[in-house]
Parts: sequence; C-alpha cells; structure tokens
Amino acid sequence: MDRITIIVPCYNEEEVIELFYPAVQVCVEKIPNSEFNYIFVDDGSRDNTLNKLRELSANHDDVSYISLSRNFGKEAAMMAGIDFADGDAVIIMDADLQHPPDKIPEMISYWRAGFDDVCGKRIDRAGETFLKRSCANIFYAVMKKFSTSYEMQRDVGDFRLLDRRCIEALKLMRENQRFTKGLFTWVGYRKKEIPFEVRPRAAGTTTWNYFALFNLAMKGMTSFTTAPLRLMTFLGMIISFGAMLYMFFVLAMAILYGDPVAGYPTLMTVMLFLGGIQILSLGIIGEYLGQIFHESKRRPIYLVDEIDGKRMMYASRFVPTERNAKFRE
Ligand code: UDP
Ligand code: MG
Repeated sequence: MDRITIIVPCYNEEEVIELFYPAVQVCVEKIPNSEFNYIFVDDGSRDNTLNKLRELSANHDDVSYISLSRNFGKEAAMMAGIDFADGDAVIIMDADLQHPPDKIPEMISYWRAGFDDVCGKRIDRAGETFLKRSCANIFYAVMKKFSTSYEMQRDVGDFRLLDRRCIEALKLMRENQRFTKGLFTWVGYRKKEIPFEVRPRAAGTTTWNYFALFNLAMKGMTSFTTAPLRLMTFLGMIISFGAMLYMFFVLAMAILYGDPVAGYPTLMTVMLFLGGIQILSLGIIGEYLGQIFHESKRRPIYLVDEIDGKRMMYASRFVPTERNAKFRE
C-alpha cells in the first residue's frame, strides 16, 4: 500500500474548496494499492476558506488542514505542506483545479516505475499574451545562460509528484527567500516531465500580476546565480577599455589637428550612460544584499496558527495532534 499526500496551498479559495475535493477524489479512488490523504494549507486567507476547510476535514477523515498565522505566499504555504506531509510521495496541486487531477494516475505510474519527481509541463503557453510569453522566454534564456550547476526546467511549475527522497531534501533547505521551482531542480534525482494543459480557474481570481511575476523572476535569479554580479565586473572592464581608446582619440585630435571635439553632447551622453550603468550595478548589488539581509535573520519560513482545530504557536516540524495522530511520524 503506497501512501500519497496531496498538498494544496489555498489563499482566498472559498469558492473552489468544495469543488476540489470531489474532483480529485474521483480520479484517485480507482488507483490500486494506494491510500491518499490531503493537507490543505490555508495561507492566511481573508475570506471564508478556513471555515470551508474546517468543514471539509470534519466530514472526511483523509483531510487535514494547516492554517498559517498570516499570508506568507504560496512558496511558504507549500513548504508548510511539505513539512507536515507523511506520505511515501507527495503531490502538490493548486486549489483552483487548474492542474488537472486526471493526470494523477499517470504521475503515480511513473513514480512506481522509478521516477522521483514527476512534473507537469504546460503545453499551452501559446494562449498567453505576447508580453507574458516574451518575459518568460527572456527569464529562461538568462537562467539557462548563467546557472552552470543545473538547468532550469522550462514551463514546469509546482504541479508535481515528489518521492520521499525529494521531500526530505527540500526540508533541508530552510531559506527564507524561496524560489521553489529552482529548488526542485536543484535537488536533482530522476525527473520525468508529463505534458498537461492548464485549465481555466474553476472559480475565484488569480493573485498574480506582472509585478509579482517580476519579483519572482528576480528572486529566482538572485537565489540561484551570481552571474549578474560577474556581468557587472565584465561591463565595467569593457567600458573602461572603451573610455581609454576614446581618450587616445580625443588626445590625437587635439594634438594633431588642434581640434577640440564637440563638448556638450558627447559629455552628456557619456555621463548619462555611465550614470545609468552605475545605478544598475548598485541595484544588482542591492538585490543580493537584500537576499543576505533576509536570510541572515534566519526567521522561520511560516508560522502555524491552527492544525486540525488545534491552536498552535509555531511548528517547524510535524506535531502530532489528536486528529492527525493517525499520521506516521
Ligand atoms: N496561493 C497561496 N498563497 C498566496 C497566493 C496563492 O497559497 O499568497 C495559492 C492559491 O490559492 C492557488 C495557488 O497558490 O492554489 C496558485 O495561485 P493562483 O491560482 O492565484 O495563481 P495562478 O494559477 O494564476 O498562477
Ligand atoms: Mg491558478
């Protein structure tokens, strides 16, 4: 009997919780030799999500929930689920049913065939706006160029099945600024990508916008490569070299022809260009400094408010309560 835990981060998902459980249940019931349990993580929702989760877990023995003390973001919510999951494997899914549950049997058969990380690869990027697609392209191209240790998986998100080994590895990485997508790749092990189409949201609204995506991309870059810093050094060298050549040119013009090169426009251009580069460099250094700042405080990734009806202060690891005592430690 394989025990599989389904982790579902939820933020303001009151409308979909009720739809989610039966939709997934239909797909997993028939899978032989397997036992499923669910961990819903309420990421400080402002709507009725928590009450819906209380209701769901009261009605179903295989459902547990963890409620965080405030909104910590999806990355932290997933980590909470991962910390508390007790299955031989874990499946991470969005609450909004955008990740098709009918892919679960396929994921499990690959897992049983020996893969440790069976990830959903979206095949419908074409439906997105040109701008969003271009941004994604640039991000992947930069990451591919600069991260030497491993290659970031393209169009692969958080919808995946992870073996216990991956889970244990992820639990070792307690960094605050989590770029989970990169962490999954960093862990390694045997990966299998299975194609899937992202469905429209079952209900509710997305919390992502361009600004959030930009922030996520910056986080991804600064937590997985220091190449931008190296690039700045390189750029500085090139510009200095160019400036030297230009100096010889100006000197030659002045000495040979007594011709002072037109001043104002050249000065202005060069000054503004260099000013821009300097601010950019400072910004990049600042991004890394910010990372160090956040990490150096070593704060917990999330705080737990309530687990299955029991109020808690902080739980960084699995804490058995009466209701989830059925879980294996
Ligand atoms: N989510 C979360 N915390 C947040 C934002 C989102 O746990 O601060 C959850 C959300 O409930 C959903 C998943 O992360 O299950 C994906 O969010 P969403 O559907 O808004 O993003 P999209 O699918 O548009 O990328
Ligand atoms: Mg969604």
